[in-house]
Amino acid sequence: MAVNFESYKNIVAELNGKKVTLVAVSKTKSAEEILSLYDMGQRDFGENYVQELVEKYDQLPKDIRWHFIGHLQSNKVKLIAPFVYLVHSVDSEKLLKEINKQGEKNNRVVDCLLQVHIAKEETKFGFDEKELDTFFKETLSRNDKGLYKNIRIVGLMGMASFTDDRNLVRNEFQFLNSLFTKNSTFSILDSQFTILSMGMSSDYELAIEEGANMVRIGSLLFGKREPKK
Ligand SMILES: *Cc1c(COP(=O)(O)O)cnc(C)c1O
Repeated sequence: MAVNFESYKNIVAELNGKKVTLVAVSKTKSAEEILSLYDMGQRDFGENYVQELVEKYDQLPKDIRWHFIGHLQSNKVKLIAPFVYLVHSVDSEKLLKEINKQGEKNNRVVDCLLQVHIAKEETKFGFDEKELDTFFKETLSRNDKGLYKNIRIVGLMGMASFTDDRNLVRNEFQFLNSLFTKNSTFSILDSQFTILSMGMSSDYELAIEEGANMVRIGSLLFGKREPKK
């Protein structure tokens, strides 16, 4: 077991001082490893794969707040809708509609972040700026008709380019923060639009400098991951 307790303690101390929420990214890690951080007080954990998340949810304490941070297929929403705490990775309206539907079935409101494509890489999912603008203007202005009664859109999430170019990463975070600020003024969202989820092990300090109030950290806490088969 390679959980790095020293690193965990240091990061928690650093983030507490800055009022930034730590999501411990536990994908591919065992229930025992998660429990060892749980025993130190960690409650927010992030997972990428639906099946894995469901298994861990069944095995682990029920006061864990499970964050879904990976690409989510519409047909799998029903598996996590009963318990997921926050979906970071909403990348289409179709998905949003499905989350709303499953929220309704489970008689709960599911909190969501819209994922924004800020990186240079083609492979990263998410809305671009124009799609986000259209979404906020058109979709949310229809919200009074009860279109999305079982979700709340509480902020934005993004992933910077995978690169050593710190300036590029900083610019991407700045860009996401500007979209966050711009869209948080939509009155329909009230004060709910409060979460800016950006930054991982390699770039969370930069992300916080650029306004992140939630970071998703895996390998600094749990050690390197085995590549997924
Ligand atoms: C895996 C993952 C992380 C954590 O990555 P680390 O580099 O291990 O900190 C954060 N966010 C998302 C969306 C991820 O898939």
